Amino acid sequence: MSKTAFFTDERTFWHTGGTHALFFPVGGWVQPPAASAYAESPESKRRLLALIQASGLAASLDMGSANAASDDDLLRIHPRDYLERFKAASDANGGDLGELAPFGKGSYEIAALSAGLAMSALDTVLAGRAANAFSLSRPPGHHCLRDKSMGFCLLANIPIAIEAARARHRVERVAVIDWDVHHGNGTQSIYYDDPNTLTISLHQEGCFPPGYSGTEERGAGAGEGANINIPLLPGGGHDAWLYAFERIVLPALNRFRPDLIVVASGLDASAVDPLARMLLHSESYRAMTQLMRDAAARHCGGRLVVVHEGGYSEAYVPFCGHAIVETLAGVRTQVEDPMLDLAILQQPSARFAAFQRQLIDEMAQMFVR
Ligand SMILES: [Zn+2]
Repeated sequence: MSKTAFFTDERTFWHTGGTHALFFPVGGWVQPPAASAYAESPESKRRLLALIQASGLAASLDMGSANAASDDDLLRIHPRDYLERFKAASDANGGDLGELAPFGKGSYEIAALSAGLAMSALDTVLAGRAANAFSLSRPPGHHCLRDKSMGFCLLANIPIAIEAARARHRVERVAVIDWDVHHGNGTQSIYYDDPNTLTISLHQEGCFPPGYSGTEERGAGAGEGANINIPLLPGGGHDAWLYAFERIVLPALNRFRPDLIVVASGLDASAVDPLARMLLHSESYRAMTQLMRDAAARHCGGRLVVVHEGGYSEAYVPFCGHAIVETLAGVRTQVEDPMLDLAILQQPSARFAAFQRQLIDEMAQMFVR
């Protein structure tokens, strides 16, 4: 029986955000950062990989790296002009070509490798060489527009991977479930009029892009109805996210009948993430992954790929990511989440949960039409 494939590469951990503290450029009142003060730091990813090795979970995985995405691969999504500007700035001293997406020297090649790892994850699953797959890399991709970087994202990793897969395999209908706490605006914009790519983003209402909610943005033209936004209230936790899956995500997948499910897996809806205000924990990510595994088994022969996106708590991201990879591989190691009991006690009250459920019910009514 084929294993879970796991793609990662140490070189993607060498991408830097130039000189930024959290995501503020240094200068004025912003003191230059300590080593890991840049929000999109490699440490959360490196520690997840370390935990996978320390726990023995690695033995259940087919681990490997991949080639960088080629120019042809990148050009399926990004205009040549954007790629040339990015490469030129990367060859010089880095910069920021968009909004809150700083990068240092050499980040172009690293971003192409990050996209290449996601590509290989899809390719391996579609070729039947793995039961499912996980890609752990940076920079992330889900905020990147075709011609503009945003929110730490320099290339649109998942769309690049989907279009490469469509060029090489018989795969048409792809569902992208984005559970990063921030809106998957890049993926949405790239597939806004595509009826064959269902994009669903669950996110904290108004968080990033700042002020964005998105329920009314449902896709355009032939893609009308194939884009769903599920804004959740700040402070929401396990109940809110799982209820949104039950009422909206799973019914949408049932209607869409995907050939492949891709998860844009940010781990920044956790209770201790510095860039959002949600209350998920490792068991929430385990449960959502199991739902996606079950949906993939029901619709598309189990074809499921999880691509890492955001997640900024160095100490806690590893436990959430480890639970996801355990679930993909169908194994349970000895690892215990040291924050789980506390996070469960900190969940919102029944009154909050009832109110959030009511709002989700209202959204579910909108989306079935
Ligand atoms: Zn995020």
